[in-house]
Amino acid sequence: HPLVGFEHIELTYPGGTHALRDVSLTVREGEFVSVVGPSGCGKSTLLRLSAGLETITDGYMQCGAERIGYVFQDATLLPWRTVWENVALVGELDGVPRGERDRRIAAALETVGLTGFEKHLPHMLSGGMRMRVSLARSLTMDPDLFLFDEPFAALDEITRERLGVELTELFAAKRFAGLFITHSVSEAAFLSSRVLVMSGRPGNIVDEIEVPFPFP
Ligand code: ADP
Ligand code: ADP
Repeated sequence: HPLVGFEHIELTYPGGTHALRDVSLTVREGEFVSVVGPSGCGKSTLLRLSAGLETITDGYMQCGAERIGYVFQDATLLPWRTVWENVALVGELDGVPRGERDRRIAAALETVGLTGFEKHLPHMLSGGMRMRVSLARSLTMDPDLFLFDEPFAALDEITRERLGVELTELFAAKRFAGLFITHSVSEAAFLSSRVLVMSGRPGNIVDEIEVPFPFP
């Protein structure tokens, strides 16, 4: 069964905003899917739905993912915690035993190239490095599905490009499944073999593009 399966879903917020209309979308194991569309078309709503943080008002949805990693723009690091302590957060909340937690943290930091920065505080890091910390934190919980909410939006172009390359390599190597939202068509096309184009209010998926992979 799919990690995310939406069939003809609708979502109207309690205040009456009709955010999604007749959206169908599937993410299977090992698939990395991007959703691209302008601001306000319902991308974040779609992602929050995938994480179980919103409820559909019509249609059918199933979620086969047991552990979800949610990667936002850099704002979610705790400023008073070091890199190590920020990455430790998920394991602490889940009650992962100390030894196992430390092993996972070290492995995740190594994966994102932050070994040696354990004692740094977020303000000492560049935006790209904070993004890596956020990704490392998700990696420690070994998710079946990663949700990315415009993680590169605040980054400069060079950093964005470099992180994009690393992310595609990592996901290709580990066969991680991901749902990535962005308003950048080039970013979506670079990162994924399947790009869903959303537009309108209420938002609807208006096109699906298969990108020859690896791109270009
Ligand atoms: P996007 O991520 O593409 O910018 P959103 O999913 O954030 O779009 O928003 C889609 C629509 O739903 C917008 O009109 C937005 O104002 C509205 N919206 C988003 N979140 C809420 C909310 N919690 N309550 C009411 N309306 C919301
Ligand atoms: P305590 O567990 O009492 O805080 P420790 O000296 O064991 O004392 O750890 C201090 C902090 O450093 C903890 O938040 C811990 O998670 C973190 N830490 C543990 N191992 C490492 C490591 N190899 N590199 C960086 N930080 C670490």
